[in-house]
Amino acid sequence: MVQLIEVFTKRLQAAGLEHAAKLVQNLSHKLAPAAAGQEHLGPEFLMHIAKDLEALRSSIEEPADGVILLSDQDARHQILVLEQSYDIVNQLSREMGLFGYRLRSVVDGDGLIAALLDYPANAIIMDLDAPGSAEALTRLLVQVRDSAGRLLPVLGVSHNDDFQTRLNAVRAGVASYLIPPVDPHDLVMELDLLTHRREPDRLHVLLVEPSVARANNYCGILEDGGLEVTAVSQPEKALTALQEFSPDVILMAMYLDECTGAELARIIRQFPIHTSIPIVFLGPRTAMDQQLDAIGVGGDDFLSGPTHASYLVRFVRIRAERGRKLRSLMLTDNLTGLLNHTCTKEQLGKELARAIRRQTPLAFAMVDLDDFKAVNDTYGHPAGDRVIKTLARLFKQRLRRSDYVGRYGGEEFAVIMPESTAEDGKRTLDEIRIAFGRISQIALNGTFQASFSAGVAAFPEIDDSTDLMYWADQALYKAKQTGRNRIVIYEVGASKRKS
Ligand code: GH3
Ligand code: MG
Ligand code: MG
Repeated sequence: MVQLIEVFTKRLQAAGLEHAAKLVQNLSHKLAPAAAGQEHLGPEFLMHIAKDLEALRSSIEEPADGVILLSDQDARHQILVLEQSYDIVNQLSREMGLFGYRLRSVVDGDGLIAALLDYPANAIIMDLDAPGSAEALTRLLVQVRDSAGRLLPVLGVSHNDDFQTRLNAVRAGVASYLIPPVDPHDLVMELDLLTHRREPDRLHVLLVEPSVARANNYCGILEDGGLEVTAVSQPEKALTALQEFSPDVILMAMYLDECTGAELARIIRQFPIHTSIPIVFLGPRTAMDQQLDAIGVGGDDFLSGPTHASYLVRFVRIRAERGRKLRSLMLTDNLTGLLNHTCTKEQLGKELARAIRRQTPLAFAMVDLDDFKAVNDTYGHPAGDRVIKTLARLFKQRLRRSDYVGRYGGEEFAVIMPESTAEDGKRTLDEIRIAFGRISQIALNGTFQASFSAGVAAFPEIDDSTDLMYWADQALYKAKQTGRNRIVIYEVGASKRKS
């Protein structure tokens, strides 16, 4: 009998059903004394067995039913979980699947090492209390590193919140430390950071320089230094390039063909969206008052040549990094990190202009959370804020890089989807809507599900950004009227716009 159980559990393990294997093993341990007549078969014992059998049944069910798989790139985010509780693993798997993470669970250190051999994990979530001691944890993590052949980020979960345990974890190489009950959303946030899910873009420099020879020289040095450079020779082209590329810093010659650098800087600063971009003037050593004049009109710095290549790269990189940080602070909403209201509108204008120029479609959607007053009333304002953040994160993860999403108002969002028709936009939002509805929102007094409605309008049917907003809003209104938790495409013919 013992042998039979052993062979059976090995087969379960080989089939990737580690949890079921563990449960069968536990069950056989419990049944052994009963079989030998040493255990009274009372209702309590039988209930225990029934519970174990129920756990076994659910452990071999298809987990995470109907989870929509994300793009291939997202499916690369595979996580190994060392956790003995099947319920915890199942819940994590369901919730994190919605954010594109796939989980495989193991129940002990040996299982973890074995799984690393054939599972290309991107990170490990582990119960730090499982190995039993600080030494065992360290040994296990050394083994993990050897088996994986690279450093894998480890997220630790532990009931111990004392300094020594945290220190042991840090020394063993644990990157994040979470105390149960762990909210899957916090795990997702940590994993996003640890797995660098969103690779930062290269820093982008806009060079305004009328001399082709000098422009080539600067471009060569900066590109060798890992920066992306767009060079223009005329001032008007600088404005178009700014619209198109949103660079992180502008390097500008002091003297341009049609105007001075200082004048161009003044024009650039007339656009609210460009007030935070650092401008560095390039030029010969000029009189001090002229430099100050330049800085006074909104240039930030002055670089007088000739300069050593590595100094130039460092100088520009530092200002570009600062420019990027400033821009993200100014243009994005504090709670969600999404574009704020003003910038969303400006971005819609830009993207629509581009769509018209290229004659490609563009979808625009207004999104509003459903019955949000009730959510706040029932679960509290902080829980409401978490719902907003969850939706923001889902948008960022599910939408393409070329899409834009802004927090348009309190619990309202706007989504700009270039190269998408109204139907494409509806399809994408429907997927997000379904995924969002499956997420358990966690509040102090319970868990609940939230939903949103959206209205979609699109170019070429509509070719004005104010009209796009108006018709998307009308469609949103219709979505609300017809029952909420749905995406509706505008119908221009249905009612004429009142002017
Ligand atoms: P509907 O389905 O018709 O949209 O119903 P609703 O209750 O969501 O109605 P409406 O969109 O008019 O209500 C918005 C509510 O959202 C009002 C306000 O209490 C809440 N809200 C707005 N901004 C925030 C925010 O930043 N945080 C939280 N927690 N609540 C917000
Ligand atoms: Mg609203
Ligand atoms: Mg609402």
